[in-house]
Amino acid sequence: GSTPDTRLPMATERTLSIIKPDATRRNLTGRINAKFEEAGLRIVAQKRIRLTKDQAEAFYGVHKERPFFAGLVSFMTSGPVVVQVLEGDDAVARNRAIMGATDPRKAEAGTIRAEFAEDIEANSVHGSDAADTAAQEIAFFFAGVEIVG
Ligand code: UDP
Repeated sequence: GSTPDTRLPMATERTLSIIKPDATRRNLTGRINAKFEEAGLRIVAQKRIRLTKDQAEAFYGVHKERPFFAGLVSFMTSGPVVVQVLEGDDAVARNRAIMGATDPRKAEAGTIRAEFAEDIEANSVHGSDAADTAAQEIAFFFAGVEIVG
């Protein structure tokens, strides 16, 4: 007989994405969204907001002891952001792959950060790094009724 297929099925997941102020300032929202959609991710919630200092500090609380924290909070509050929920097979990992490395000089060709990021801070997009942080980050910005799958 044939060998049984023991691969795990890909799970439909949701992840939190943020199009950062450097990208909204350069009018790149649509081009970045096209990358998500071309990769099979669906934008199931989206809103353009201006983060307060308190919100930015709370959202990036895990980094509060890092040397780049103050600069990051200042950057994230410097202009509008687009917060969004992306849905699809392995959405967390898939989105991280499309984003590319944190430092655009190290990001693979074709990724959002390779194409659009200005530097390691103004790197155009945020994406949750794991399923549990995705759930927390989605709840930080969205009520359940705002997410339409
Ligand atoms: N960041 C920065 N300087 C650094 C590292 C990170 O300004 O040396 C900023 C950058 O905007 C990055 C964010 O802090 O996206 C969060 O850092 P993290 O290491 O979680 O990277 P990410 O998950 O966004 O790739």
